[in-house]
Amino acid sequence: SLTERLSGAMQGLRGKGRLTEDSIRDALREVRVALLEADVALPVVKDFIAQVRMRALGQEVTKSLTPGQALVKIVNDELIRVMGEQNESLDLNAAAPVVVMLAGLQGSGKTTTTAKLAKHLAEAHGKKVMVVSADVYRPAAIAQLETLAGQVGAIFQPSDVSQSPVDIASGALAEARRQFADVLLVDTAGRLHVDAELMDEAKAIAAAVNPHEILFVVDSMTGQDAANTARAFDEALALTGVVLTKTDGDARGGAALSVRQVTGKPIKFIGAGEKPDALQPFYPDRIASRILGMGDVLSLVEEAERSVDKAKAEKLAKKIRRGAGFSLEDFKSQIEQMDQMGGVSGLMDKLPGMGQIPDQVKNKVNDGETRRMVAIINSMTPKEREFPDVIKGSRKRRIANGSGTTIQDVNKLLKQFGQMQKMMKKFGKGGMGKMMKRLGQ
Ligand code: GDP
Ligand code: MG
Repeated sequence: SLTERLSGAMQGLRGKGRLTEDSIRDALREVRVALLEADVALPVVKDFIAQVRMRALGQEVTKSLTPGQALVKIVNDELIRVMGEQNESLDLNAAAPVVVMLAGLQGSGKTTTTAKLAKHLAEAHGKKVMVVSADVYRPAAIAQLETLAGQVGAIFQPSDVSQSPVDIASGALAEARRQFADVLLVDTAGRLHVDAELMDEAKAIAAAVNPHEILFVVDSMTGQDAANTARAFDEALALTGVVLTKTDGDARGGAALSVRQVTGKPIKFIGAGEKPDALQPFYPDRIASRILGMGDVLSLVEEAERSVDKAKAEKLAKKIRRGAGFSLEDFKSQIEQMDQMGGVSGLMDKLPGMGQIPDQVKNKVNDGETRRMVAIINSMTPKEREFPDVIKGSRKRRIANGSGTTIQDVNKLLKQFGQMQKMMKKFGKGGMGKMMKRLGQ
């Protein structure tokens, strides 16, 4: 990870009180490589490095920090500064119905995000939400929105491919007024590439219904391209914000930095899955950690807090961060928490390195086996939980009998635990605690 590389590049600088051009040259090269690897667009990388250099030069290194730590902090602070310091929410401060328009390339996630926003606005803000599709090029797109609207309980305003997008949007606004909707979400068509026709259409829709928010929806996995697309949309439309989708498939986070830097518009939400509830507020500090390779530990803790008891979650997160020994007892509380949180895969993907975990392991934990797994661990003695190596033939039989399972089930669980333990060890090495220790040495 970048943090590890920076500590490497800054080795031998201990004891020097100030960061100098010479001392940071190698480290800045590492930052540059890391940002490019995170798929940040080149011009954005250049600006960013220049900023970091300026901030770093002549900076006093406080006693409590090594030069490596000091530079990591500068990079981290700068990432957060560029990405907007804090989350900005949707601005609904306007006469109802507040019109929110979504624009972006085809497949970027507009229709999915429309449904996610409808759900979010209804649940978190108690809004009455109407949705309409102005995508007249693909009949399936309108049907898709209708289905999703049904799932999230939004009012679906029908539209038809024979209508013009502008008429659809204006008609929907009139209907939203008539039905006293609080918010009207206008889903628009996209194309594979930015082109004049697409932009003209989007502009015409915006002119017709005067949206209070125009959100640019962009696929985080498009990496470098995201910057160019963002620029084109920002020039054509008065964007008010950005939704970064498919962050569940992108561990690098580079698009966030590029899009923000290029447009100057706040990233308001991130999409982290296909389901209507996979929408999260955007927190710059979390993406900064992701770019720095520290994983989205904060999101994990937050999610854990929502569904399970806080002390337990914190203990687990701390343990994960420290990379401490991972026992069957931990495995059990993890299984139980994941069960409560509705599945392991969404949670695991948030942890650095977890993308590598075999799906087979995730799915196994997912498919209702959790109770059996917990029963097996419950049938073990505390010593067996702490030192699973002692679990041989007769112990296995006793555990299987006690938990109403088979020896094969016990074997399977031990194997899964072994895989998980390996992941945890790997993760621990890159984890915050050890990293900081190493930097401090
Ligand atoms: P549109 O053409 O811009 O309307 O894009 P859609 O909303 O139809 O989304 C295109 C595809 O991306 C669909 O298969 C969605 O399920 C998927 N998708 C959208 N947002 C996300 C996300 O945040 N995560 C994941 N994994 N898939 C997403
Ligand atoms: Mg669509």
